This record gives sequence, C-alpha cells and structure tokens, in this order.
Amino acid sequence: GTIGESLAAAAARFPDGEALVDVPTGRRWTWRQLRADVRRLATGLHRAGLTAGERIGIWGPNTWEWTLTQFATAEIGAVLVTINPSYRQHELDYVLEQAGLTAVVASGESGGQDYPGMLAAAEAERGPLDLTVIMGTGAWESLFAAEADDEALDRIAAGLAAEDPINIQYTSGTTGFPKGATLTHRNILNNGFFVGEVCRYTERDRICIPVPFYHCFGMVMGNLAAVTHGSTMIIPSAAFDPEATLSTVQAERCTSLYGVPTMFIAELSLETLGTFDLTSLRTGIMAGSPCPEEVMRRVIDEMNMEEVTICYGMTETSPVSLQTRVDDELRRRVGTVGRVGPHVEVKVADPVTGETLGVDADGELCTRGYLVMRGYWNDPEKTAEAVDRDGWMRTGDMGRMDADGYVQITGRMKDLVIRGGENIYPREIEEFLHTHPDIIDAQVIGVPDDRYGEELMAWIRLRRDAEPVAAQQLKAHCDGQLAKYKIPRYVVVVDEFPTTVTGKVRKVRMRERALDLLA
Ligand code: ATP
Ligand code: MG
Repeated sequence: GTIGESLAAAAARFPDGEALVDVPTGRRWTWRQLRADVRRLATGLHRAGLTAGERIGIWGPNTWEWTLTQFATAEIGAVLVTINPSYRQHELDYVLEQAGLTAVVASGESGGQDYPGMLAAAEAERGPLDLTVIMGTGAWESLFAAEADDEALDRIAAGLAAEDPINIQYTSGTTGFPKGATLTHRNILNNGFFVGEVCRYTERDRICIPVPFYHCFGMVMGNLAAVTHGSTMIIPSAAFDPEATLSTVQAERCTSLYGVPTMFIAELSLETLGTFDLTSLRTGIMAGSPCPEEVMRRVIDEMNMEEVTICYGMTETSPVSLQTRVDDELRRRVGTVGRVGPHVEVKVADPVTGETLGVDADGELCTRGYLVMRGYWNDPEKTAEAVDRDGWMRTGDMGRMDADGYVQITGRMKDLVIRGGENIYPREIEEFLHTHPDIIDAQVIGVPDDRYGEELMAWIRLRRDAEPVAAQQLKAHCDGQLAKYKIPRYVVVVDEFPTTVTGKVRKVRMRERALDLLA
C-alpha cells in the first residue's frame, strides 16, 4: 500500500489512540485528529498547485510541522526531499538544484540557523520556487484548508502506486559528499513496519524519537513504524538534548527510546541519570554506527531497556537490513547486529572478485530485497557502482556471518588502516578501549607514517571524574591484550568528536585534524 493508506488504516483502527506528542509545544493528536490535519494540509498543498511526483523539500529540526508535512506530501504523492537541518547556503543550493525542488517547507530561525534567510538568498540567486513556506507563519497556517477536499485527495490517491518514489533522502555524508537515495512507498513503509514488528510494537507503545526526522532513523524507523502499528510518536526536543530526552521518557511514560551510540553515551554520562524514572522503558533501537557492547549492556542495566535491539542498515536500503531480536541470547543481542529482516537477503562477498564467501569469512556485506532504493536521484553512474545487475546493494561495510546467520560488522572499508602490510579494523580496538573503566567513548583512525605507511591514533573521551589517562598507561592496558601492531601509537584525549547531525562520528574530519596535531 501507500503511506496515505497506512495513515487511513491507523485512523480507522485507533481513532482515539494517541498518534503524536510534540513536547516543546505541548501539542497532541489522536490518529483521527492527525489524519484530519494531514488531509487539510495536503489539500492546501494541492490547491497551491503541487502535484504527484513533484519534489518538495523539508528543512529544519524535529517539529510537529515536520511530521505533518511528511504525511501530507505522501497524501498527494509528492516526493519529500529531506534536507539536512545543519546545511549552510551552498549545500542548500546544491540540493535545490540536484533534486530539482519546486517547493520547500522550512523552519523559522532555529538553533543558530537562519532557514528563511538562506532560502530567500537561494531564491534571489536562482529565481523563485513555486512555493516556499516557513513553519509557524501566517502562510503556514493558511496552508491548512478549512476542510479537506476528500474528493480531490481520493482521486489523487487512486493514481498512486506503492512503487512510486516518495522520498529522496541524502546519506549522512560520513565518508564524503551526501548522495540522494530515491525511495518508494514500498521501500520505506515495509521497512518501518518490519522494524516495528521486531520491537513488538502495539498501540500501547510510546516511542521517544530524539533522532533526526530528516534521516531514515527518525522518519522511517520512528514515524512509519508508529503509523503501521498505531504506536505514539513522541518528539522530546527539536535538536537532540540528553536531559530533555530522559525527562520526556519519564513524563510521557515512553516504552521505547531511539539513539545512535553517541546519544546513549550522552544520556548514560548525565550526572542526573539516576534521578529519572525510566521504568516505563521496555525496548528501543541503537543504530547508525558501531554499537559498543559496553554501551549496550549499560543501556539494558541502567536505562531499563531490557528488550533493546540493534539495527544495521543504510539510507540506500530504507534503511534496516539486519536487526537483533528481543529473544536473542544476550551475548548475540549486544555483540552482533542480528540476523536479516523479513524478505531481505544479505551475503558476504569478496570485495575484489565479488565471489560469495562462506560462514565466518570476512567480506563486504551486500543486501538485496524490497528495501533496495530505486537508485541515486539523477545519478545512474553512481547507482550502477552501488547496485549490481542482480539487485545487490554494495554496503561498503565489512562483516562476517556465523552458521546461525548472525552478522558482525568489522568496519567500513574506507576506515580500514593498513599498517606495515597488516589490515587493521579500528572497530576492534575501539571495542577494547571501551572496556577501560575511565573511557566513555573511543575512536581510532589511521594517520600517515613514513615507516609503516599508517599508524594508529586513538581519540578518547574520559568519564567526568576520571584522572587524565596518560598515553603510556593506556598502552600498558592494551599490552598483552592486543597484538603489538594494534596498539595505538598516539593517544589524544578530547571532549567531543566531530560528528554529523545524525550524531555519527566523522572520521574524515578526525583524520584532517590529526594531520594538524602531528604537524
Ligand atoms: P555516506 O554514505 O554519505 O558516507 P553514511 O554511510 O554514514 O554516509 P547512512 O546511510 O546514514 O550514511 O549510514 C549507513 C552506514 O552507517 C552503514 O554503511 C554503516 O557503515 C553504518 N552503520 C549503520 N548501522 C550500524 C551498526 N549497527 N553498526 C555498525 N555500523 C553501522
Ligand atoms: Mg553510506
């Protein structure tokens, strides 16, 4: 079906169930009310001349307006282009051009970003778009028709198909310039549904979503998992804030909480952690980058998330292809990314020859199934590099699968360090550093070295009350536990890592800064 059909089904099955709570404004919607408001907004967009297949941008942090726009654009079959809220002028200009946007819905000034100003500058430069609307203004209010034009909307809906593109979503830009993945109703609606199945969502679940909507973690694993199960979407704050997140869990009795590892680490590091009542939590998802075992165990023990799961995926696969199950034994639930989701195939291939490898062999993960994107928007060349003729998506991640189908991620191919001819995946060393009692987060990169080609450099963040760990001490901690060539030559203590808005650590940036540190 389509996203519109899913929303109609939720409104019919759970009319009085809570659909959306926006904590910063205190606004709430039941599924019946949400669908009614979405249809009024969709009618306004339709009357403004927007049609199916047209690209409409949405630009801003997490707000209720964002969620309504997501569902309203789906209602008229427009392709929602989710624009990274931290983009600056030239990045906005690039997306406007690359995705051929005809309309943009944007936030007012927020978090130091002047969305209206940058949008106006772009229009002055390239000519006006058909429609630009700033949330919270009179123009935004008047976009909501007094009454939904059901006849027009039903006519549009009859012409939509599950195979139609509904979303262009840019990758996080962790390894380079973001690429726009074209995704269909079938891609993302099914993925949201299956992720929700694994979390055992029902209409009684209340999902706290501090992860960005502009990325699939928020808009698919959050909003679309909710609409397909009648669960509640709860927005704790516009931009991530660990205190606001935990106080929302407490006040709204959330049963599920999402985050990338850095977000959970921030919550676990709060001095006030113990003062929050987190007893309502049952499940949740950690995903997006390597999830250290240590952090998973603490989330289970200290945040009451007994049924937390790990997801692995990428924007290009809608996103989730692998997920740990609630009933997996603990060792596997915290130490692997689980098994393939329903109707998904994953294989491990030799990155050079493409040959499929056997059990426990390290190779590149490839994914196939309903979840693989249509392609990169307007970029057949990049698409052909990423998806082969048989439909396999190359992930660029290395991993191995055991005899029971559990997959372990070894690391990104681009992060591989080759030191004196030895292949080293930073992930293994990071996991080890996490076991040091004073270290709350660790990242390892390769830096150029005359003798070995590359040397390892560890960046670590320490617990608030920790004594500064001397590099020598840390090396002693590694001694006898890690092979000599895997012991980091350089150790740097930092307060923060450079991250993307999705909270992913940008090793590209770390490598640039490392050059300055060594110079
Ligand atoms: P870009 O493709 O622009 O460089 P990106 O790959 O970070 O950015 P996303 O599509 O948001 O953009 O992220 C997908 C990647 O995130 C995966 O390829 C993988 O490297 C990493 N990832 C996601 N989930 C996990 C996980 N559970 N464990 C380890 N890595 C993960
Ligand atoms: Mg990627």
